[in-house]
Amino acid sequence: MKISSDSEKFIINSCRELFFKWYGASEVREASKRKVPRYKKDGTRHKVDGVEYQCASCGDYYKSGDIELDHKHEVGRGETIEEKLEILLDVENLQVLCIGCHKDKTREYMFERMVGET
Ligand SMILES: [Zn+2]
Repeated sequence: MKISSDSEKFIINSCRELFFKWYGASEVREASKRKVPRYKKDGTRHKVDGVEYQCASCGDYYKSGDIELDHKHEVGRGETIEEKLEILLDVENLQVLCIGCHKDKTREYMFERMVGET
């Protein structure tokens, strides 16, 4: 299908938003989760444990707000919009990364694309 790159961007971004909205509390996140004991000021243990998620890249554990879902195979690698959507919506293609590792990975990918296009 031939569509303008603006339309393609719009479709991909809308799908990405919906995908993460519906798939926000995904099995991928759950699989990387561990419970950690929490303690009160007096040193006694809280009834409810805290949770942390393991980054698939550096292996460290992070709080929920410090991790992001990443597409292992970047969506932009698809040649056509159909391919991009297929990559975007593939649950098997997701992994949990900490914000730092996700930034590094994105930066590397953008650099690779920039170099590739010149
Ligand atoms: Zn990491």
